[in-house]
Amino acid sequence: MRVPYQNMKFMLSVVQMKDAPDDEGWEVAFAGRSNAGKSSGLNALASQNNLARTSKTPGRTRELNYFELDGQRRIVDLPGYGYAKVSRQRQNQWRGLLDEFLQTRQSLQGILLFMDIRHPMTDFDQRLVDWCEYRQFPVHVLLTKSDKLGYGKAKSTLLKVQHSLKTTRMPATAQLFSAFKKTGLEEAYDVLDSWLHINAKN
Ligand code: GDP
Repeated sequence: MRVPYQNMKFMLSVVQMKDAPDDEGWEVAFAGRSNAGKSSGLNALASQNNLARTSKTPGRTRELNYFELDGQRRIVDLPGYGYAKVSRQRQNQWRGLLDEFLQTRQSLQGILLFMDIRHPMTDFDQRLVDWCEYRQFPVHVLLTKSDKLGYGKAKSTLLKVQHSLKTTRMPATAQLFSAFKKTGLEEAYDVLDSWLHINAKN
């Protein structure tokens, strides 16, 4: 557990970028398919049980949810993608918001991309990685629920994902992660610290 993340507080939800917090300081986006383990990961990283509940509230799952570590540093929880039961119109609204966020946000430093280790690199994930490559945003993949696989299988999946990321023309890394077993937290904190300009290990 690290102090800056423990202090994380819900700030606000936005459906239009004009309502987003001032675009200054540093922010990191959390992305992933619905059910990838993103909310559990956010809670585990913050050592809080309920922090991500807003992102899971029905009707609010299409919003960008902002969490602040301090006045200069934020985590933005992006809507989980690949959720089938939404109308095309809602999907388009949501894609528009996501595009606008990714295209305009100057304070965005990198994307933490959550993937269920049993279903890594889906088409949606690949599209996001491609987009980050186009925009030259660094990506760090958390292969979540790694407790679901034995060590050998988890490790070979990690190697495969790392191999496929190697072809990208921007910094793209990956690691094993389990919110349930609290494994991989330190490695994830190190990446977040570097993106969020947090120097000291607390
Ligand atoms: P989200 O939709 O991406 O926010 O995913 P959630 O965090 O809600 O997790 C989706 C499902 O995966 C839930 O049933 C969680 O209990 C389960 N899950 C999340 N993290 C882990 C983990 O580390 N290990 C295991 N075994 N299951 C997990």
